[in-house]
Order: sequence, then structure tokens, then C-alpha cells
Amino acid sequence: MATKRDFYEILGVSKTATEDELKKAYRKLALKYHPDRNPNDKDAEEKFKEAAEAYEVLTNKDKRAKYDQFGHAGVDGQGFSGQGQGMNMDDIFSMFGDIFGGRGGFGGFSGFGSERSRGGRRVNKGSSLRIKVKLSLEDIEKGVEKKIKVNKYVLCKECHGSGAKAGSETITCTHCNGSGYITQVQRTILGNMQTQSVCPSCSGEGKIIKDKCPSCHGDGIVKSEELITINIPAGVADGMQISFSGLGNAGARNGINGDLIVSIEELPHEHFERDGNNICHQTYITVSEAILGTTIEVPTLGGQAKFKIEQGMTSGKVYRLRGKGLPDVNGYGKGDLLVRVDVWIPKSYSKEEKKMLETLQKSENFKPNPSAKEKSFFEKMKNMFN
Ligand SMILES: [Zn+2]
Ligand SMILES: [Zn+2]
Repeated sequence: MATKRDFYEILGVSKTATEDELKKAYRKLALKYHPDRNPNDKDAEEKFKEAAEAYEVLTNKDKRAKYDQFGHAGVDGQGFSGQGQGMNMDDIFSMFGDIFGGRGGFGGFSGFGSERSRGGRRVNKGSSLRIKVKLSLEDIEKGVEKKIKVNKYVLCKECHGSGAKAGSETITCTHCNGSGYITQVQRTILGNMQTQSVCPSCSGEGKIIKDKCPSCHGDGIVKSEELITINIPAGVADGMQISFSGLGNAGARNGINGDLIVSIEELPHEHFERDGNNICHQTYITVSEAILGTTIEVPTLGGQAKFKIEQGMTSGKVYRLRGKGLPDVNGYGKGDLLVRVDVWIPKSYSKEEKKMLETLQKSENFKPNPSAKEKSFFEKMKNMFN
């Protein structure tokens, strides 16, 4: 909309309109442009919001006074949710549902949402479909496209989802005149109370099928095996659930598709344990390698990495290979590969080996003599692995 229309003009009332007149005018417009009555009509939705904003301002004494004095400039930025445009339909229903009468409001003025089950004609939402996907760490590192066969409800091709037999029509429910609701007036000690309930004839759909489609028995949906393709982002973890909107079961009689909820199951890896975005690996070197220093090769996700072990390594040292872990699922960088290197102590030895070791043992160099730094280093290691 280019320029904002005058609020009085929108509601079609005079500048001196009373609260009652405003209410009446707004009610009329809101019913006319109600989204349930104008599905997929953007223009009607705009008009519906416009009327709601006008009503909201003019029924507020302060805002009305400012509007009368300064026009839109006087109330802009303090209209709906603090922003004239971008009004949320749910806000409108929650703020003004009460002016439409009884608890449920006029059909549709409360509980407007994806299912609209409490107000207005019912739109069936398909149920969620839940599946498990098993992923290797390699899949998780890169993200993966999965093609999965699922058994789910899909639109019936025979009737294109209407549920009606070919040539047969759906008729407006005569019990509720298509509103999906019936209103009852009950006398209570507080006076007459209006209550609304779902029309039992059409289950709230407002329409009735005369002859049911033989293929789906009137549901408009049938079970079918489908191949679906989903993209799992990199960095997911065991137990995470990802929701794919609209990929679940189709809703009955041209309803809304449910969601597909994918639970991630991480397969154990032969080389790695996962710790958040880091992956951990453990390996051994020989006693002499630890004393003399060496270069070792370790597996990475999808490859190998080499690194140097310095002379005189202490068993249990952890080496950090930066960026060789898993990507963060929210895109905050990458984890590391932590390699713990232990010294392999032989469990058996020959006579000659024993002799050699006994000779070495007499050397001053083989007597334990840890530095202060080495002592604190042990503390660090403990923290890393506990
Ligand atoms: Zn059918
Ligand atoms: Zn009905």
C-alpha cells in the first residue's frame, strides 16, 4: 500500500463515531475479510489487517486523540506490536477475539493458526511423520543428502484430494450453513450464555461429501510408498531432531501437509569418539619411539594426518590437530582432532631383552626426575580426559 488510508474511512464511520459504532463497523469488515472466508486472498488479508489497526487505534482514547490531532504521524510506531505494518494475524485474533461474542468468538476469531481446529472451518493438518536416520561421522562432517523410502499419506489421485467421487460434488453443510460451527444459547444464572461447538454433521469442515471417492473412502488421502530426498546439514549430533515442514503426511480433504521429523542417530566409528565438535583418537607408540622421538600417522575423517612426536614424550600426551574435527551445526567454525598418544609397555620379553633393560635401568638417565612443568602437565591431562 502506497499511502495509509484514513482510519475513519477504513471503518466507514464518522469522526464522531461512538465505541459501539466502531465495534459494529469493525465487526462487519472483519467478517467480510476474514482469512477463513478468503483463503489465499492477499488483498483481503491486507484489508483485514488494515481494519484491525484502525479499530485498535480508534478504540484507544489516547491514540484516537493523537490521531485526530496529528494523523498517522501521531500514532505510527505505536500501532500494532509497535509497528504499523508487519502485524501478526495471531495478535489480531488474540486482541480482538472477545468482541465477537462468546468464548470461542465468532467462528474463526480465536485459535487461528495452522490447524484452526478451535475456530472457523476446520482445515485438516496431516500428522507428523517420524523417521530415524543413521549417519556416519563422515556424513556428519560434510552434511549429506539422503533419499529415503517412507510409507505415508499422500493426496488421492483419483479425487485430487477432495474425497468426493468423480462427478459428485461437495455440498455446503446445511446443519451449520458452512461455518463449521453451531451456536447454542444456554440459560444460566448469569444470563444467556452463547457457546459454540464443532458442527457434528461435517466435523467442522463446513462441507459434506455426497458420494465418497471409492479409492480413498472420502478421506482425500491414501497410503503410498514415497521416495523423499532430505538434506541433512553438517555438524548434526546424535539425538537431534530436524523438522522438515510439509514433508509429513498429507492432510485429509485438501488439508495442510504435516511435517517430517528426522531423528539423527550417529553410528559408532572405528577410529573416533566424538566430544561435541571435537573428535578424539587414541594410539600407541613404542617405548623407544617415546624416548627417541618419531613421526606418526593417524586417521582423520576422510584421510590421514602426520605429526611429530618430540624426543622424550610422556605417555598420555594429547596432540591437537586444529580444524580436523566436525563443523559446528550453526556454522561457528570447526572442531579439532585430539590424538592421545600412549606408550606401549611390552607385556612379555625375552632373556636378552631383560638383560638390556636391566643395563639401561642402571643409567642415571632412566631414573624418574619430573620437572615442575611436567607435574602441572599431568594435571592438564587429567582434566582433558575426565
Ligand atoms: Zn479419493
Ligand atoms: Zn456443518
